[in-house]
Amino acid sequence: STSGLIVTPSEHLEVPENVQVTTLDSVVNWCRKYSLWPMPFATACCGIELMAVGASRFDIARFGAEVMRFSPRQCDLMIVAGRVAMKMMPVLQRIWLQMPEPKWCISMGACASTGGIFDTYAVVQGVDRFIPVDVYIPGCPPRPEQILRAILDIQEKVQKGGTTFGNEGLPELRDRERYLI
Ligand code: SF4
Repeated sequence: STSGLIVTPSEHLEVPENVQVTTLDSVVNWCRKYSLWPMPFATACCGIELMAVGASRFDIARFGAEVMRFSPRQCDLMIVAGRVAMKMMPVLQRIWLQMPEPKWCISMGACASTGGIFDTYAVVQGVDRFIPVDVYIPGCPPRPEQILRAILDIQEKVQKGGTTFGNEGLPELRDRERYLI
């Protein structure tokens, strides 16, 4: 038969051309990358562009990431969209810690990544000081297409089986503890 594995007398397996072999990890990661469940942490104007990406024109469902959830227990992709006040950081960290592993994070827009125009003590000057970030999206605000590009970058990372940090490796642990009051 040409559809099954053929065992030769020397007990070597010959794989027919129409059969592909792979690893279980590859299959799991392939499934995982096309079923990302985002956690939209939208605090400001970037959130409007994030909403647009879920609508029909940009249609994030084409990439299997349309199931936005507001329970961190159900999410594996944090999207921080907008500036984050220092007082809000404990909430963001807590939600991040409540998300099950493996998980990934997108920092969307200048404010989330650097504080943007809000160069003030009251605004976090980059969320990667307190939670790990896998992909940064530049812009003020970024276009929906950029968000889709970031999703593709995350998918590539998922396929490789990588996360930036686990919960054990959160950057600036002392600050994290300070703000987790
Ligand atoms: Fe608003 Fe620009 Fe900051 Fe996004 S980066 S939250 S659009 S000010």
